[in-house]
Amino acid sequence: MAKIHFRTAQFLISAPSIRQCPTEEGTEVAFAGRSNAGKSSAINTLTGNGKLARTSKTPGRTQLINFFNFPAAPDQRIVDLPGYGYAKVPMAVKKKWQADLSEYLQQRDALRGLVIVMDIRHPLQDFDTMMINWAIEGEMPVHLLLTKADKLKPGAAKSTLLAVQKHMRDAQVDDLVSAQMFSALKKQGINQLEDVLNGWLLPQHDEPEAVQE
Ligand code: GDP
Repeated sequence: MAKIHFRTAQFLISAPSIRQCPTEEGTEVAFAGRSNAGKSSAINTLTGNGKLARTSKTPGRTQLINFFNFPAAPDQRIVDLPGYGYAKVPMAVKKKWQADLSEYLQQRDALRGLVIVMDIRHPLQDFDTMMINWAIEGEMPVHLLLTKADKLKPGAAKSTLLAVQKHMRDAQVDDLVSAQMFSALKKQGINQLEDVLNGWLLPQHDEPEAVQE
């Protein structure tokens, strides 16, 4: 089956809001996460491009939605959503982000799945859980990327992963929500992430053909 070469990712467009997002042709996956969780580093590691997703983040700056696509797969996109959770951002701005993100998740037809990037030392914070719940309400698959795994000893990292997975099983959402460890620093977990993204982005060719009446 065809696979996307994530290393060929290129910048497509920035949109200031969901209403100004590009065409709904094709398929896309979105990356979300608290600011400083490691989202830009994860996208840059996946794409092998240290500059694709900007790691600079000044609180209060206009938060853009950034789209990337691939020369050989122009209708497949990665979407870098604005980081959430700046302590210093005024409540009105936070509310606006919440409204925008929930609208994007619930109304974007091209969206096939959501990657939520979380620092493995601080998983499932309030806003992460809210995002997961919005996605589940819309029956949108979610992949939890527990990044900065290098910051914990292997045993502690593994038990965090197991605890997060158990949490999803207990909530009976493990059919929609998967999780893995990741480290941008150690380049750990890239293949697993690529498999998830390929599964979401590429149309399935191996389904049985519809039976003719
Ligand atoms: P973003 O705000 O979610 O886009 O976060 P960044 O990607 O800018 O990362 C925030 C900080 O965490 C930066 O100082 C990164 O160098 C660091 N960081 C990101 N990923 C990793 C990782 O896998 N391991 C370690 N040790 N540090 C990381």
